[in-house]
Amino acid sequence: MIPLKIRDRRYDSSVPRFELSQTLLIDADDTLWENNIYFERAIADFISFLNHCERTPAEVREILNEVERDCIVSHGYGLKSFAHALVKTFERISVEPITPELHHAIHGFAHTIATQPIQLLADVEKTLEYLAGRHRLVVVTKGDPHEQSGKVERSGLKKFFSAVEVVPEKDERTYAGVIARHQLAHEHTWMVGNSPRSDINPALRAGINAVFVPHNDTWILEHEDVIGCEPPQKLLVLGSFRELAQHF
Ligand SMILES: [Mg+2]
Repeated sequence: MIPLKIRDRRYDSSVPRFELSQTLLIDADDTLWENNIYFERAIADFISFLNHCERTPAEVREILNEVERDCIVSHGYGLKSFAHALVKTFERISVEPITPELHHAIHGFAHTIATQPIQLLADVEKTLEYLAGRHRLVVVTKGDPHEQSGKVERSGLKKFFSAVEVVPEKDERTYAGVIARHQLAHEHTWMVGNSPRSDINPALRAGINAVFVPHNDTWILEHEDVIGCEPPQKLLVLGSFRELAQHF
């Protein structure tokens, strides 16, 4: 059930509301559930484990960011790519050679992320329940297909979505592909997410509308300024996921 607070806001005339039967493409990691915090914890554990005598934690982090950018190009997004980036970072800055034991320990930092329970963000379930009765909802998430579909299954949220799209990258071409596959009308389609680089900017470039729901712990490689848009295209910036119920 939608709490009274959300219901009441439906009648607030100052909040623009959009008609029924829009299509909401919705990001998953750090939009529906926590994700980046687990990576940050794993990175902090890795840096402590490394205990580098010459590099500060900030310097190690800087190198890891650089290595991760390269690993994304060669291995895509996901835990395997992240584990690979940790090993590469170790090899780049450690004076001692990597042994099978060290390799195993470093992979362990990445694999603890896979065992984390899905922690939904505030009011996500009841907001999706409300939205699913009024609009068509599609998950659009990037990463390893097996990992991302597994998270959707375990979240218990799959029932609210008419489709789940796991894509290797989220760029303008990806959104054009999703729009074509689902035969979507640009003016009634919205991308909802926490990442300017992956969710908002490429969706606006592809000609659909966007809803930016910032998350305090957004991955540094997703940071980018939000580009604007000209009417009739629309961009909403919300303080939380539950605020979607005020507009849709
Ligand atoms: Mg995200």
